[in-house]
Amino acid sequence: MFHYICCMSMNLKVEIDPRSGFCFGVVKAIKRALEILRAEGKLYCLGQIVHNDEEVKRLQDLGMITLTHDEIANIYGQKVLIRAHGEPPETYELLRKNGNEILDATCPIVLKLQGRIKQSELDGDFILIYGKANHPEVVGLMGHLNGQGVVFSNFEDLDLASLPDRVTLYSQTTMSIEKLYAVRQKLEDSGIRVLLKDTICRQVSGRKEEMQEFCRKHDVVIFISGVESSNGKVLFESCLEVNPRSYKISGISEIDSNWFRECRSVGICGATSTPMWQMEQAMQMIKSL
Ligand code: SF4
Repeated sequence: MFHYICCMSMNLKVEIDPRSGFCFGVVKAIKRALEILRAEGKLYCLGQIVHNDEEVKRLQDLGMITLTHDEIANIYGQKVLIRAHGEPPETYELLRKNGNEILDATCPIVLKLQGRIKQSELDGDFILIYGKANHPEVVGLMGHLNGQGVVFSNFEDLDLASLPDRVTLYSQTTMSIEKLYAVRQKLEDSGIRVLLKDTICRQVSGRKEEMQEFCRKHDVVIFISGVESSNGKVLFESCLEVNPRSYKISGISEIDSNWFRECRSVGICGATSTPMWQMEQAMQMIKSL
């Protein structure tokens, strides 16, 4: 369900992008967490459930306890949620060994990617993953490959001399689709044959055009996203491409009234990990300026 909210403060029109907000993978993970929290008042989650500090805090206030990977070795007999990014197989093994109940909220798109990449490895492919080595989704993927793939986030970081003449190219789901295709082109220009498996999530790339249309309509754009959110970085670049008066914030305390000088309309949008309530909060804040 899309929310559409628009208000006028003095002569300032403020509108929330109806297509911004949680993707279905995040909705599913948070719904699962809330079911347990409402019933039991306590739930462990491995890593931040979503790359948004304020939403994490809201859930922590309801009883969610966020664990680091180092901490799970000491957790026994608990309910532990695996977030949408997924995990490597050893995480499941360790949690089960310690008698924990796993609530697996890995996004179906990530699960499919894990399956495809594993099959690719069994087929003997040389696997490249375009993504960030320390991103939890990529850590999970590498776990399914027993560390056999090569991860890179910049073409320039690749050691071309060490690559075979044929590679299979995958991507972290939240990378820029244009950059993925540019990487393929550069590899091919270097004489390497590329079998591209376009595994970019359309919940991110599909938003670009509509978000840009939204940003063009407004004098100023406020984009809300957690600092760690990959799709937040990609989508914010899309805003800036069409509206140089776009500002990225992670919370409403960062809003600066100077941004709204000679401004008649403000658009508020966000990443797939940005809750609607946070965009509504920003709207109220701007209204009150
Ligand atoms: S961005 Fe896509 S892959 Fe990632 S959690 Fe959302 S729906 Fe799933």
